[in-house]
Amino acid sequence: MRYQFKNCRELLELCEREKLPISQIAIRSEMELFNKKQPWVRNKMKLVRNTMWEAIQKGIKTTAKSKYGLVGDSAAKLYIGIKKSGHMLHSKTAIRAMAYAVATNEQNARMGRIVAFPTAGGSGVVPGVLFSTYEHMKSSKRRMLNALFTASAIGIAILKHGGTFSAAKGGCQAEVGVGTAMAAAGVTEMRGGTPAQCLNAAALALKNMLGLACDPISGLVEVPCVKRNAIGASIAIAASDMSMLGVKSFVPMDEVVEAMMNIAATMNESIRETALGGLATTPTGLRVREKMGLPKVPKKYLNKCKDCTGCG
Ligand code: SF4
Repeated sequence: MRYQFKNCRELLELCEREKLPISQIAIRSEMELFNKKQPWVRNKMKLVRNTMWEAIQKGIKTTAKSKYGLVGDSAAKLYIGIKKSGHMLHSKTAIRAMAYAVATNEQNARMGRIVAFPTAGGSGVVPGVLFSTYEHMKSSKRRMLNALFTASAIGIAILKHGGTFSAAKGGCQAEVGVGTAMAAAGVTEMRGGTPAQCLNAAALALKNMLGLACDPISGLVEVPCVKRNAIGASIAIAASDMSMLGVKSFVPMDEVVEAMMNIAATMNESIRETALGGLATTPTGLRVREKMGLPKVPKKYLNKCKDCTGCG
């Protein structure tokens, strides 16, 4: 098989050998795997792209609360912020990326249709960053589609190198963190970066998501998940800018993935999608849990007060 790769190093070698960007290797890899022609592969990704866009469009137009009422109005607020970008520190593109990321995740929390790319919890970062940059650059639809293929190639390389998208295994670094790395690479190709710059952007992004706990309040993919996607979008844009300016990650992408799994192995179960630690067991998190009538968190998982006298 000519276009298969087992990690990011092999992906880069393939790009250099074939003199192709990451997106084109990803397309050829799919054609090879499924024994299909290019239009079949591109049409599949068009479906992904269109579904992402529908979720964004629905998400920015509503302030309806999520099914459990914890989130729902942040995308609209961020979207209005685009018009006030002169007063903001972030660029218009970055604010719109955050708005789109949150729009997607709020739709997910409303049980709307989204694309789990790479997962439902981390589904906002890639579309947020790519669609916002697509608008900023007045890019072509083809380029947008290619950026999605590039993002997907990063996800595949992470998995093939022993990584994971599972929060139960690796915490939120494996969901929003991986989504952020995928977005950083995709947007870097969209703006003309080389394959090396794309992978470098992914490494810069993922490095700064390492150790991120999965600690959703009441086990719902709402808090902190939704807003975490916005910050992920911001980090992806920062990583892409840094890479385009020549800043190099000291640790290559494959080793960052190894570090992610190393950290995953040492992560306490309470911060791996169990809602038994982190933000989930803050006083606010526990109040929500009680209000929802969920079983109490076992004492062993609860934070001790600063001057604990052992009351439990
Ligand atoms: S906190 Fe957990 S559930 Fe929420 S996005 Fe992150 S990994 Fe997913």
